[in-house]
Amino acid sequence: MCGIVGYVGSRPALPVVVEGLRRMEYRGYDSAGIAVVTPDGVLNTAKKAGRIGNLDVELAGREITGNTGIGHTRWATHGAPNDRNAHPHLDAAGRIAVIHNGIIENFHELRAELERDGVELTSDTDTEIVAHLVAAVLREGGDDVVLAEAVRSVCRRLEGSFTLVFVDRDHPDSVVAARRNSPLVLGLGDGETFLGSSDVAFIEFTKRAVEIGQDQVVEITRDGYTLTDLHGNPAEGKPYAITWDLEAAEKGGYEYFMLKEIQEQPTAVGETLRSHFMDGRITLDEQRLDISVLREIDKVFVVGCGSAYHAGLLAKHAIEHWTRIPVEVEMASEFRYRDPVLDRQTLVIAISQSGETADTLEAVRHAKDQRATVLAICNTNGAQIPREADAVLYTHAGPEIGVAATKTFTAQVAAVLIVGLALAQARGTKYGDEIAAEFAALEAMPDLIRQTLERVEDVRRIAREIANAKAILFLGRHVGYPVALEGALKLKELAYMHAEGFPAGELKHGPIALVEQDLPVVVVMPDPTGRPLLHQKMLSNIAEISARGARTIVIATEGDELAAKHAAHLIELPFSPTLLSPLLSAIPMQVLAAEIAQARGFDVDKPRNLAKSVTVE
Ligand code: GLU
Repeated sequence: MCGIVGYVGSRPALPVVVEGLRRMEYRGYDSAGIAVVTPDGVLNTAKKAGRIGNLDVELAGREITGNTGIGHTRWATHGAPNDRNAHPHLDAAGRIAVIHNGIIENFHELRAELERDGVELTSDTDTEIVAHLVAAVLREGGDDVVLAEAVRSVCRRLEGSFTLVFVDRDHPDSVVAARRNSPLVLGLGDGETFLGSSDVAFIEFTKRAVEIGQDQVVEITRDGYTLTDLHGNPAEGKPYAITWDLEAAEKGGYEYFMLKEIQEQPTAVGETLRSHFMDGRITLDEQRLDISVLREIDKVFVVGCGSAYHAGLLAKHAIEHWTRIPVEVEMASEFRYRDPVLDRQTLVIAISQSGETADTLEAVRHAKDQRATVLAICNTNGAQIPREADAVLYTHAGPEIGVAATKTFTAQVAAVLIVGLALAQARGTKYGDEIAAEFAALEAMPDLIRQTLERVEDVRRIAREIANAKAILFLGRHVGYPVALEGALKLKELAYMHAEGFPAGELKHGPIALVEQDLPVVVVMPDPTGRPLLHQKMLSNIAEISARGARTIVIATEGDELAAKHAAHLIELPFSPTLLSPLLSAIPMQVLAAEIAQARGFDVDKPRNLAKSVTVE
């Protein structure tokens, strides 16, 4: 969470920084702020609680020149989301401005130390102390100490997670940044250099990017950058080319990013599958895992949060069915706080869109401490989880700006299916021709997703009819259950409605008490040929809730006449194989939630209290 931008070059910094913030506002929208330094050493700042629009109002009519600047959108962790706590924060003399993503865990003692020294703190954040500490080192060191050196020495004292970015009024030609456990990438232009929490911040200007490593400090100038560790030893960044373009980070005529991202799913899934099946074999080309390691695996854990956890539940179905290896799925936030049994033969699959989810990162560290092998499934280059994992399989969904996951969820589902097939191949639990047939079925999915998207008008109509319901329930069995959970999560996130996903078999053990006249219940039906027994049981479940007045919205394969007969509303999907079917049934869930949220007047891209990636535990 939190978006960070830094710029040094020859353009006016303010519009570059504000535009970068706008592109990253999905990362946090509690407040926005900027600091720009002019060549003659004037430090201009502006900050305002709320969305970037409020900062725009604040900036209107102000003339802020200068070619060096930083900007921040906040997702508050320490201190209320008000003007005072908005970043940047300054030292008492107004020389240094700092912005921060993360949490400084030992800030209480550092704050007490500053207060003892008579420093007056003007905010409740954990961030402000850093400005004072850096300024003190600069003051004490006199001309001998430059900003990068002062930053290194302060960072050595900090605990927790941080990307910190600084400007110094007395050195207007550079920006200095440091990172630990929070994201930071650098963009190289001609005569200009950028920093961002994500490359979305500067995609408009350059496609040449560099990953900044853990515990590194970087100083950028117009001519490039200098990278060191926290002790000043030279360090090397990892250059990479950004493979998507500006269009991907823009709305392209849609009212919300999320609506565009829902439509992008055929490409997101197609690109994720691309080049993973060659010469009759599954290849995990981006990963660094030896096939012999996969052969030895006797247990799999999948960890993730939110939608990634739901993709993990689907991974369990596929991996157990295809490989007979036991799979446990766990919310990353719970995983390391119990005592999971892991060893060298355990594979931990860590799923995180951003690659920076703090809970998942900690789960990865815990797994590595226990000597398990970790395979990350992520969508973002340069993030910490792929860096710390033994191997990574990237989903190629492109940037996702809407806070609620859509195309990255279906791309994660595709990715776990690839991993399942790779394990089946390594262990020989499927013949080569069976793997080829499964992969061919996967390759047909982008087209089926396209067909599903062509028919969502019915979903929209139903959504508008039930938009004022008090609550909505979601039911599924087998692979339909994680889809039901995903449907309920989307609705909570976007429409702020009470929504619950249940395994349909659990109904009679409690949840059926919630059913009352006209309560909408979304039911994910299995295909009658794929799981005939489950299909029958689901029909009984529909009958049970209908008898109690529920308004059923049934998602079923086209031609499923029995489902049609039982449904109050029917949403038909093209036929797809059982394990792959969530790639289709997830789509009406997304559309339903987005449409209800819009009907209720909410911002679909930026739901309240949420941020795109959760970089704090
Ligand atoms: N902990 C800092 C604050 O609450 C930074 C939060 C962020 O990452 O936006 O201001």
